[in-house]
Amino acid sequence: MADVTLNKLTKSFGPVEVIPELDLTIPSGSFTVLVGPSGCGKSTLLRMIAGLDDPTTGGMKIDGDNVLGKQPSDRGIAMVFQSYALYPHMSVRENISFGLRLAKTDPAEIDARVEEASKILQLDPLLDRKPKQLSGGQRQRVAIGRAIVRHPKVFLFDEPLSNLDAALRGQMRVEIMELHKRLKATMIYVTHDQVEAMTMADRIVVLNKGNIEQVGAPLELYDTPQTPFVAGFIGSPK
Ligand code: ADP
Ligand code: MG
Repeated sequence: MADVTLNKLTKSFGPVEVIPELDLTIPSGSFTVLVGPSGCGKSTLLRMIAGLDDPTTGGMKIDGDNVLGKQPSDRGIAMVFQSYALYPHMSVRENISFGLRLAKTDPAEIDARVEEASKILQLDPLLDRKPKQLSGGQRQRVAIGRAIVRHPKVFLFDEPLSNLDAALRGQMRVEIMELHKRLKATMIYVTHDQVEAMTMADRIVVLNKGNIEQVGAPLELYDTPQTPFVAGFIGSPK
Protein backbone atom coordinates (compact mmCIF):
# COMPACT_ATOMS: atom_id res chain seq x y z
CA MET A 1 0.00 0.00 0.00
CA ALA A 2 1.20 3.48 -0.76
CA ASP A 3 -0.01 7.02 -0.71
CA VAL A 4 0.46 9.34 -3.64
CA THR A 5 1.29 12.99 -2.98
CA LEU A 6 1.12 15.72 -5.58
CA ASN A 7 2.77 18.97 -4.57
CA LYS A 8 2.06 22.17 -6.52
CA LEU A 9 1.88 20.12 -9.69
CA THR A 10 1.38 22.02 -12.96
CA LYS A 11 1.11 20.92 -16.56
CA SER A 12 1.07 22.96 -19.75
CA PHE A 13 1.09 21.82 -23.35
CA GLY A 14 2.86 24.71 -25.08
CA PRO A 15 0.92 27.84 -24.14
CA VAL A 16 -2.08 25.87 -22.88
CA GLU A 17 -2.19 25.38 -19.12
CA VAL A 18 -4.10 22.17 -18.47
CA ILE A 19 -3.34 21.88 -14.74
CA PRO A 20 -2.76 25.30 -13.12
CA GLU A 21 -1.50 24.11 -9.71
CA LEU A 22 -2.61 21.02 -7.91
CA ASP A 23 -2.03 19.81 -4.36
CA LEU A 24 -3.46 16.41 -3.54
CA THR A 25 -2.76 13.49 -1.25
CA ILE A 26 -4.29 10.16 -2.17
CA PRO A 27 -4.35 8.02 0.96
CA SER A 28 -2.72 4.63 1.04
CA GLY A 29 -5.20 1.83 0.41
CA SER A 30 -8.00 4.15 -0.68
CA PHE A 31 -10.22 3.75 -3.71
CA THR A 32 -9.98 7.31 -4.97
CA VAL A 33 -12.04 8.33 -7.99
CA LEU A 34 -10.99 11.35 -10.05
CA VAL A 35 -14.12 12.59 -11.73
CA GLY A 36 -14.79 15.53 -14.02
CA PRO A 37 -16.00 16.45 -17.48
CA SER A 38 -14.19 15.42 -20.62
CA GLY A 39 -11.05 17.51 -21.20
CA CYS A 40 -10.59 18.61 -17.57
CA GLY A 41 -7.18 16.94 -17.28
CA LYS A 42 -7.94 13.53 -15.71
CA SER A 43 -5.88 11.47 -18.16
CA THR A 44 -3.06 13.99 -18.08
CA LEU A 45 -2.91 13.71 -14.31
CA LEU A 46 -2.93 9.91 -14.36
CA ARG A 47 -0.27 9.78 -17.08
CA MET A 48 1.99 11.98 -14.96
CA ILE A 49 1.56 9.73 -11.93
CA ALA A 50 2.34 6.75 -14.16
CA GLY A 51 5.45 8.45 -15.52
CA LEU A 52 4.16 8.45 -19.11
CA ASP A 53 4.29 12.24 -19.14
CA ASP A 54 6.23 14.77 -17.05
CA PRO A 55 4.73 17.64 -15.07
CA THR A 56 5.83 21.12 -16.11
CA THR A 57 6.61 22.00 -12.48
CA GLY A 58 5.93 20.61 -9.03
CA GLY A 59 6.65 17.48 -7.02
CA MET A 60 5.28 13.98 -6.74
CA LYS A 61 5.85 11.20 -4.25
CA ILE A 62 4.66 7.63 -4.15
CA ASP A 63 5.00 5.96 -0.76
CA GLY A 64 7.22 8.84 0.36
CA ASP A 65 9.57 8.26 -2.53
CA ASN A 66 10.26 11.06 -5.00
CA VAL A 67 9.36 9.44 -8.34
CA LEU A 68 9.86 12.30 -10.79
CA GLY A 69 12.39 11.21 -13.38
CA LYS A 70 11.82 7.54 -12.56
CA GLN A 71 10.74 5.18 -15.31
CA PRO A 72 7.11 3.96 -15.20
CA SER A 73 8.37 0.45 -14.40
CA ASP A 74 10.25 1.72 -11.33
CA ARG A 75 7.34 3.53 -9.69
CA GLY A 76 5.46 0.60 -8.17
CA ILE A 77 2.41 1.44 -10.29
CA ALA A 78 0.40 -0.32 -12.99
CA MET A 79 -2.06 1.35 -15.33
CA VAL A 80 -5.20 -0.02 -16.99
CA PHE A 81 -6.34 1.85 -20.10
CA GLN A 82 -9.76 2.38 -21.66
CA SER A 83 -8.50 0.86 -24.91
CA TYR A 84 -7.14 -2.23 -23.04
CA ALA A 85 -3.91 -1.80 -25.08
CA LEU A 86 -3.47 -5.56 -25.58
CA TYR A 87 -1.00 -6.93 -28.12
CA PRO A 88 -3.14 -8.54 -30.84
CA HIS A 89 -0.53 -11.09 -31.92
CA MET A 90 0.09 -12.38 -28.38
CA SER A 91 -1.96 -14.90 -26.43
CA VAL A 92 -3.69 -13.92 -23.20
CA ARG A 93 -0.89 -15.58 -21.23
CA GLU A 94 1.76 -13.66 -23.20
CA ASN A 95 -0.13 -10.40 -22.81
CA ILE A 96 -0.45 -10.85 -19.07
CA SER A 97 3.19 -11.81 -18.58
CA PHE A 98 4.69 -9.30 -21.05
CA GLY A 99 5.89 -6.76 -18.47
CA LEU A 100 7.38 -9.47 -16.28
CA ARG A 101 9.20 -11.07 -19.20
CA LEU A 102 10.56 -7.66 -20.16
CA ALA A 103 11.82 -7.22 -16.60
CA LYS A 104 13.51 -10.63 -16.85
CA THR A 105 11.52 -12.02 -13.94
CA ASP A 106 12.28 -15.63 -13.09
CA PRO A 107 10.09 -17.90 -15.30
CA ALA A 108 8.74 -19.90 -12.35
CA GLU A 109 7.75 -16.65 -10.64
CA ILE A 110 6.06 -15.49 -13.86
CA ASP A 111 4.05 -18.72 -14.04
CA ALA A 112 3.00 -18.38 -10.40
CA ARG A 113 1.86 -14.79 -10.87
CA VAL A 114 -0.03 -15.52 -14.09
CA GLU A 115 -1.77 -18.39 -12.33
CA GLU A 116 -2.67 -16.16 -9.38
CA ALA A 117 -4.05 -13.40 -11.63
CA SER A 118 -6.00 -15.75 -13.87
CA LYS A 119 -7.61 -17.36 -10.81
CA ILE A 120 -8.66 -13.99 -9.43
CA LEU A 121 -10.04 -12.88 -12.82
CA GLN A 122 -11.33 -16.28 -13.98
CA LEU A 123 -9.11 -16.24 -17.04
CA ASP A 124 -7.88 -19.86 -16.75
CA PRO A 125 -9.81 -21.20 -19.76
CA LEU A 126 -8.76 -18.25 -21.93
CA LEU A 127 -4.98 -18.20 -21.48
CA ASP A 128 -4.17 -19.56 -24.96
CA ARG A 129 -6.59 -17.33 -26.86
CA LYS A 130 -5.71 -14.19 -28.81
CA PRO A 131 -7.40 -10.89 -27.87
CA LYS A 132 -9.64 -10.95 -30.95
CA GLN A 133 -11.17 -14.20 -29.67
CA LEU A 134 -12.33 -12.47 -26.48
CA SER A 135 -15.37 -10.41 -25.55
CA GLY A 136 -14.97 -6.81 -24.37
CA GLY A 137 -15.30 -7.81 -20.73
CA GLN A 138 -12.75 -10.59 -21.11
CA ARG A 139 -10.31 -8.20 -22.77
CA GLN A 140 -10.69 -5.80 -19.89
CA ARG A 141 -9.99 -8.65 -17.46
CA VAL A 142 -6.77 -9.43 -19.35
CA ALA A 143 -5.76 -5.76 -19.11
CA ILE A 144 -6.39 -5.87 -15.35
CA GLY A 145 -4.51 -9.19 -15.13
CA ARG A 146 -1.50 -7.56 -16.73
CA ALA A 147 -1.59 -4.97 -13.96
CA ILE A 148 -2.11 -7.49 -11.14
CA VAL A 149 0.91 -9.67 -12.01
CA ARG A 150 3.22 -6.73 -11.44
CA HIS A 151 2.13 -6.58 -7.78
CA PRO A 152 1.91 -2.79 -7.92
CA LYS A 153 1.46 -0.64 -4.84
CA VAL A 154 -0.79 1.68 -6.82
CA PHE A 155 -3.28 0.81 -9.59
CA LEU A 156 -4.23 3.52 -12.05
CA PHE A 157 -7.43 3.08 -14.07
CA ASP A 158 -8.27 5.46 -16.94
CA GLU A 159 -11.96 5.07 -17.80
CA PRO A 160 -11.51 1.30 -18.03
CA LEU A 161 -15.19 0.50 -18.58
CA SER A 162 -16.25 3.12 -21.12
CA ASN A 163 -16.12 0.67 -24.02
CA LEU A 164 -18.38 -1.89 -22.34
CA ASP A 165 -22.18 -2.08 -22.47
CA ALA A 166 -24.18 -1.05 -19.42
CA ALA A 167 -24.76 -4.52 -17.96
CA LEU A 168 -21.13 -5.54 -18.23
CA ARG A 169 -20.04 -2.18 -16.86
CA GLY A 170 -22.07 -2.85 -13.72
CA GLN A 171 -20.53 -6.30 -13.31
CA MET A 172 -16.97 -5.05 -13.86
CA ARG A 173 -17.48 -2.25 -11.32
CA VAL A 174 -18.23 -4.89 -8.71
CA GLU A 175 -15.24 -6.98 -9.77
CA ILE A 176 -12.85 -4.05 -9.52
CA MET A 177 -14.21 -3.13 -6.08
CA GLU A 178 -13.75 -6.73 -4.95
CA LEU A 179 -10.21 -6.66 -6.31
CA HIS A 180 -9.55 -3.56 -4.22
CA LYS A 181 -10.77 -5.31 -1.07
CA ARG A 182 -8.73 -8.38 -1.85
CA LEU A 183 -5.42 -6.75 -2.80
CA LYS A 184 -5.70 -3.82 -0.37
CA ALA A 185 -3.76 -1.71 -2.90
CA THR A 186 -4.19 2.00 -3.49
CA MET A 187 -6.46 2.49 -6.50
CA ILE A 188 -6.86 5.72 -8.45
CA TYR A 189 -9.77 5.46 -10.83
CA VAL A 190 -10.59 8.06 -13.48
CA THR A 191 -14.07 8.44 -14.92
CA HIS A 192 -16.39 11.12 -16.32
CA ASP A 193 -19.35 9.05 -15.09
CA GLN A 194 -20.97 10.39 -11.90
CA VAL A 195 -22.73 7.08 -11.20
CA GLU A 196 -19.46 5.17 -11.40
CA ALA A 197 -17.83 7.67 -9.05
CA MET A 198 -20.68 7.56 -6.53
CA THR A 199 -20.89 3.76 -6.43
CA MET A 200 -17.21 2.83 -6.47
CA ALA A 201 -15.30 5.50 -4.54
CA ASP A 202 -14.51 5.72 -0.89
CA ARG A 203 -13.15 9.13 -1.81
CA ILE A 204 -14.00 11.36 -4.76
CA VAL A 205 -11.89 14.17 -6.19
CA VAL A 206 -13.95 16.46 -8.43
CA LEU A 207 -11.84 18.13 -11.12
CA ASN A 208 -12.84 21.13 -13.22
CA LYS A 209 -10.38 22.57 -15.75
CA GLY A 210 -7.43 21.09 -13.90
CA ASN A 211 -8.54 22.49 -10.53
CA ILE A 212 -9.88 20.53 -7.58
CA GLU A 213 -13.45 21.64 -6.83
CA GLN A 214 -13.92 19.35 -3.82
CA VAL A 215 -12.59 16.18 -2.20
CA GLY A 216 -14.71 13.95 -0.01
CA ALA A 217 -16.71 10.80 0.52
CA PRO A 218 -19.48 10.27 -2.06
CA LEU A 219 -22.32 11.12 0.33
CA GLU A 220 -20.46 14.16 1.63
CA LEU A 221 -20.25 15.56 -1.90
CA TYR A 222 -23.84 14.68 -2.59
CA ASP A 223 -25.20 16.16 0.66
CA THR A 224 -22.90 19.15 1.05
CA PRO A 225 -21.46 20.22 -2.29
CA GLN A 226 -19.15 23.18 -1.76
CA THR A 227 -19.51 24.70 -5.20
CA PRO A 228 -22.31 25.00 -7.77
CA PHE A 229 -20.13 22.93 -10.11
CA VAL A 230 -20.01 20.00 -7.68
CA ALA A 231 -23.74 20.30 -7.01
CA GLY A 232 -24.47 20.26 -10.73
CA PHE A 233 -22.02 17.55 -11.60
CA ILE A 234 -22.72 15.06 -8.81
CA GLY A 235 -26.41 15.85 -8.64
CA SER A 236 -27.20 15.77 -12.33
CA PRO A 237 -28.86 12.61 -13.62
CA LYS A 238 -26.88 10.46 -16.07
P1 ADP B 1 -9.65 14.18 -19.74
O1 ADP B 1 -8.92 12.89 -19.57
O2 ADP B 1 -10.16 14.76 -18.45
O3 ADP B 1 -10.76 14.08 -20.75
P2 ADP B 1 -7.14 15.12 -20.81
O4 ADP B 1 -6.21 15.02 -19.67
O5 ADP B 1 -7.05 14.05 -21.85
O6 ADP B 1 -8.63 15.28 -20.29
O7 ADP B 1 -6.90 16.49 -21.56
C1 ADP B 1 -6.91 17.74 -20.86
C2 ADP B 1 -6.60 18.86 -21.84
O8 ADP B 1 -5.25 18.75 -22.28
C3 ADP B 1 -7.45 18.82 -23.09
O9 ADP B 1 -7.77 20.14 -23.44
C4 ADP B 1 -6.54 18.20 -24.12
O10 ADP B 1 -6.85 18.65 -25.40
C5 ADP B 1 -5.18 18.67 -23.67
N1 ADP B 1 -4.10 17.73 -24.01
C6 ADP B 1 -3.97 16.46 -23.53
N2 ADP B 1 -2.86 15.87 -24.02
C7 ADP B 1 -2.28 16.78 -24.85
C8 ADP B 1 -1.09 16.79 -25.66
N3 ADP B 1 -0.27 15.73 -25.70
N4 ADP B 1 -0.82 17.91 -26.35
C9 ADP B 1 -1.63 18.99 -26.29
N5 ADP B 1 -2.74 19.07 -25.55
C10 ADP B 1 -3.08 17.98 -24.84
MG1 MG C 1 -9.24 11.04 -20.44
